Amino acid sequence: MTMFKITAIPALNDNYIWAIHNDSVAFVVDPGETEPVLEFLAANQLALTGILCTHRHHDHIGGIAKLRAVYNVPVYGRCHPGNPHISHDLQGGEQLKLDAFGLSFDIIAVPGHLDDHIAYYASAGSGILFCGDVLFGAGCGKSFEGTVAQLYDSLKKLSELPDATLMYCAHEYTASNLRFAAICDPDNPAVQQRISDTRELRAANLSTVPSTMQMEKATNPFLRYNDADIIKVLQQRGLTDTSGQAVFTALRLWRDKF
Ligand code: ZN
Ligand code: FE
Repeated sequence: MTMFKITAIPALNDNYIWAIHNDSVAFVVDPGETEPVLEFLAANQLALTGILCTHRHHDHIGGIAKLRAVYNVPVYGRCHPGNPHISHDLQGGEQLKLDAFGLSFDIIAVPGHLDDHIAYYASAGSGILFCGDVLFGAGCGKSFEGTVAQLYDSLKKLSELPDATLMYCAHEYTASNLRFAAICDPDNPAVQQRISDTRELRAANLSTVPSTMQMEKATNPFLRYNDADIIKVLQQRGLTDTSGQAVFTALRLWRDKF
């Protein structure tokens, strides 16, 4: 029996703040804004009992100070001088148990977008993953800190999670990412199918997230660095090194200018 629900709280332009909750209490992931969280809690008569951070970008932590003025709750995440909010430091390889929801998260260090980026994976149900700005629907985060090679290693780690894992990323970027996937992976029918499914969902103002690891492996170019067709397209653009890391790097650089 599941002891929790996960609900999207849309925030800012295209962020999702994920609420993990039962009938009385809630944790939120990456509250970049305060008001939508307070409204969600009030509408569902929930008390906030904790906050999870994936990384220190403002659109993920900007709502924490004001939330904590109302609910003085623990804030979990990777300690960093640029993030004054963390009360409980989490490192890759550690576990975080949230007994109220019957959840135990494995903490996965996923540097490459920012150094302090971590992801939260729990095997409950079909598996749930909060991956912030590292993996998106049909795309991945930009490399702001560290190296593209680190980002590659991080995505590779996430791609080893079970296919059925539900992937809860922090932005609604799927449609724009698929425009790039259609160019670098033009003959992939799964990409074409996802483009039309995504168009329908967005036209109905519905979220394209969560997706599954299986869907990402089938349609996300940044997990398809071994795909012969993608490699061929990149070779036509001058790629010579076809190692996974070189293919991934070429895709990331192309996407940056796309
Ligand atoms: Zn970010
Ligand atoms: Fe972000």
